[in-house]
Formats: sequence, C-alpha cells, structure tokens
Amino acid sequence: MAVIFAERMDLMCASEIREILKITQRPEVISFAGGLPAPELFPVEAMKQVAVKVLNEAGQEALQYSTTEGFERLRQQIAARMNRKFNTNVQENNVLITSGSQQALDFSGKLFLSAGDVVLCESPTYLAAISAFKAYQPRFIAVPTDDQGMIIEELKKILETTTNVKLIYIVPDFQNPTGRTWSLTRRQQLMEVVNEYELPVIEDNPYGELRFEGDFLPAVKSMDTKGLVIFVSTFSKTFCPGLRVGWIAADSRFIERYVLIKQGADLHTSSLSQREISAYMDMYDFESHIANIIKVYRSRRDAMVNAMEEYFDSAVTFTRPQGGLFTWVEMPKHIKAVSLLKECLQHHVAFVPGDSFFPNGGVENTFRLNYSNMPEERINEGIRRLAMVMAKYNNY
Ligand code: PMP
Repeated sequence: MAVIFAERMDLMCASEIREILKITQRPEVISFAGGLPAPELFPVEAMKQVAVKVLNEAGQEALQYSTTEGFERLRQQIAARMNRKFNTNVQENNVLITSGSQQALDFSGKLFLSAGDVVLCESPTYLAAISAFKAYQPRFIAVPTDDQGMIIEELKKILETTTNVKLIYIVPDFQNPTGRTWSLTRRQQLMEVVNEYELPVIEDNPYGELRFEGDFLPAVKSMDTKGLVIFVSTFSKTFCPGLRVGWIAADSRFIERYVLIKQGADLHTSSLSQREISAYMDMYDFESHIANIIKVYRSRRDAMVNAMEEYFDSAVTFTRPQGGLFTWVEMPKHIKAVSLLKECLQHHVAFVPGDSFFPNGGVENTFRLNYSNMPEERINEGIRRLAMVMAKYNNY
C-alpha cells in the first residue's frame, strides 16, 4: 500500500535551483548565492571563554531543560537593546526566545493561517518565509513594492477587494532579497492601514542593526499603538547563526499563544546557546563587535557596487543597499536569470535567480547577490565573470 502524506507536502517541493546550486560549495566557485555571514568575524576565541564561564557558573542549568519563554536575563537584554536600537517600548514579558527567527516565521504561520487564508507580502519577499507559510496552505498576494517599500495605495486596493487576509509579512530594513529599506512615510502609512483593518503584521528584522550609512529609521513596531506588530529578529547576522537563537517581541496576547505553539514544537530553545549569548553580551562589547561587522560588510558592498558599475551594461539595474547582506539585479526582460545561472556556473560563478522570491512566480529577469561572505578581490572577479556571461545575451 502506498504511503499517503499530508496534503501540505504537495506544496513543499525541492527547488530545482537548490539542486543546481549544490555545486557552488566547490572552492573554485565564486558564489554570491548564499546568505552566509562572514565566518572570520565570529568571535570564536571569546566564545571559548564564554563557554567556560557559563559551564563553571551555571553548568547544570545550562544543560538542563528550561522555560519555554527563554532565559530571563537574555529576554531582558533583548528588550533593553531593542528599545535602545529601534525606538520600541517592549518589556521582557513581550519577548519569546525562538530557535532562530525562521522558527518564529513557522510559528506565525501556525498561529494565523488556515488553508485558503491570505498572506500579504512584499514583491519580492524572503524565500524561506514563503516556504514556512506554505506549510499552512495559504494564498499569497505579493503587493507591488518600489524603492520606498510596499506601495500603500496598492495595499489598500487589495484589502478593499480581498477577504480572509490574516497577515502582512514585511522585511522593512535592508530586505532579503533586494537590500531595500522602507521610508519613514511608508512605515507610517502602513500603520494607518493596519490599524484600520486591525491586521497583524510580522516585521522581520534580521538586518536592521547592520546599517552602513544613512539615517536611522524607527522600526514599524515602534509606531504600533494597537499591539498589532509582531517583531521578529535574530542573533544570526549580528553574532552567529550556528547557536540558533532568535526572538519574537509582541503583545502578550500573541506571546501567550506562541508559547503554546513552542511547547508543542521544541519545548524551548537551547539553554546553553541562550546563556552563552547572554554571557557574551555581559562580558564583551557587543556594540563594537557589530561595528566591526558593519565595517567589513560596507567595504564588501562597495566592492560589489563598484564592480557592477564598472562591468554591467547600463541596461542592467541594481540596488545600492545602505546595510544588510544583499543586492538585487534587474536585467532587460528577455534575459532569464535561470538560463544565465546555468551558463555562469560553467564559469564558476553563482547567484540566486529572483523567481523564487515571488510567491506566485512570473518574474524571470532578476537575481539576488550576496556580498557578506567573501573578500573584495573575489567579489570583483565574480562580478567581472558574471558581466562577461551576461554580455553574451548582448543586444540588451
Ligand atoms: N528572515 C530573513 C529575512 C532572513 O534573511 C533570515 C536568514 N536568512 C531569517 C529570517 C532566518 O534567520 P535565522 O533563522 O538564522 O534567525
């Protein structure tokens, strides 16, 4: 008898691109495809000291089961930092520690989405948020987006004509995949609409602290007067992803329910990881660690943007992110990013075609580039090769 899987599995197919990109792990390939932080910036030596201290001082607790909400000291530290960095006003009780922010996205799907419900997101949006939500069988509507963020007029039109909208998902700071940041006006306008419709918003913000230049912009969460914004973030990009520590900061009516979900999923996030991050922040200067990441990524961003200016045809456009890890390239309509990738791989250079960042597909001439994970010379060489292959499709 054949094994019958749950219906949701029909939507969860392995992506063709992921298979193609497997070869990018070979050292000769210059891969702009991943989203990996620079491993040479991980504070390995400091973490050895931290691990010894945690195990000496609280070894039994660090290896024991702990509360679902998370390690109290870490929740306090997160609330205090958020309020300082993002202008929010959250208390320790509003914070739930998650196993990476990816888990927060999955839980958000579980909390809000029944089959057929609608999720509104930016166009394009973060690929793995689409995957996380898909398990709950929603319908996605990608709201048109420009350099200032989601186009609020379009959002309003969609809301006027669509029933069952349950959730708005946004990445307003240095978005993955485009590197774009929402303007202050768009943030304010979004909140007006959200307040009118009383809709929950997931503000996914892993990159906000990695600003290289330009004015600070307050988090959407800081403008939230009705407790509708669920702020999700992580230590993956400011510290390291391997410890798998992220968080949700939200109104207690949401946190209570997320806690129930987490109890059913993994009881709690690693007690040891949580204590290690917390101890690191107590023992070392986390802000100067972040400042160092910013310095390195800024010069990698510069290397990539300069190389694109030098080598790309003027018919090809790209974003100049003020922070974060990614830039986004748009080619003339007739160039398909997937075909380009296949050819680029022969020249040992890789990127992620943009198609998969559009939940309903249909856009084939874009791709995402990551610049955080390699030195400037390699970035320059990779962009040179990429431009060379692109030029073959010459009559732009
Ligand atoms: N959201 C966004 C927008 C991301 O880019 C990422 C990581 N690539 C995540 C969430 C998940 O990160 P983590 O689970 O490591 O916290």
